Amino acid sequence: MTETSELAGTVAIVTGGSRGIGLGISHELARAGARIAVVARDGERAEAAAAELAGEGHAAYSCDIADSRACRKTVSAVESGQGPVAILVNNAGITRDNIVLRMRDDDWSGVIDTNLGGAFNMIRGVARGMMKRRAGSIVNVTSVIGLMGNAGQANYAASKAGLHGLTKSVARELATRNIRCNAVAPGFIRTDMTADLAEARVAELKDRIPAGRLGNPEDVAGVVRFLAGPAAGYITGQIIAVDGGMTMQ
Ligand code: NAP
Repeated sequence: MTETSELAGTVAIVTGGSRGIGLGISHELARAGARIAVVARDGERAEAAAAELAGEGHAAYSCDIADSRACRKTVSAVESGQGPVAILVNNAGITRDNIVLRMRDDDWSGVIDTNLGGAFNMIRGVARGMMKRRAGSIVNVTSVIGLMGNAGQANYAASKAGLHGLTKSVARELATRNIRCNAVAPGFIRTDMTADLAEARVAELKDRIPAGRLGNPEDVAGVVRFLAGPAAGYITGQIIAVDGGMTMQ
């Protein structure tokens, strides 16, 4: 198969682009020709990720996406250093699991402020420029947990379900400006986030996944590349599950 570079000349911000699914997305969009802005709290790790990507013009930014001022500063640093942002991938996310009765205030707010608030901060940061240029694609990485709920993850499920509402609202608000906003809802993917799952739990999960395996970051990254690029030019406001069939109706 010949490699295409349909994103050549564009700049793509990937939050949480330094590890796991986000690193897979950074690689995939870089292979498609985009210049990547890798955003994460750990700046050194983000630098290392940016340095390993194919092609040139990538850069790293240390930013806590839960901090709206930091997001504004980061977007303007990307725009002045790398160029206008054509693609925003809101991938950064955290878990702080507990049952509702034992969930602390900061477990609740930390997850909501990062997963949902962080995506909002970044979208607001890039929206004006995208509207002026009448071009842009936003992809939010959500989760099947946002569709199904999960005992012990009320904060995480609420943040991801909130992202689905945010995705559809932004899609409706910006569609006439040629800005698309979609979501990718991964199932269980092998990363640091799922590294602590007990083998018995993994076996149980595999039984519920028609594909019979957990996913890899690459399984998600290919779909993000498709949604970010011109082949998905008439797709907006959609939530695409990448879960080996786990949530099919
Ligand atoms: P991961 O391996 O834990 O990586 C998380 C990434 O997000 C890191 O780059 C991390 O960098 C960054 N990050 C976390 N908090 C941040 C903050 N406040 N500001 C900026 N960056 C932040 O996670 P993953 O498994 O790849 O998950 C990526 C996304 O996919 C998340 O939204 C997650 O909810 C979603 N997802 C994952 C799975 C799964 O099975 N793994 C399934 C469904 C959905 P720093 O720590 O340096 O900030």
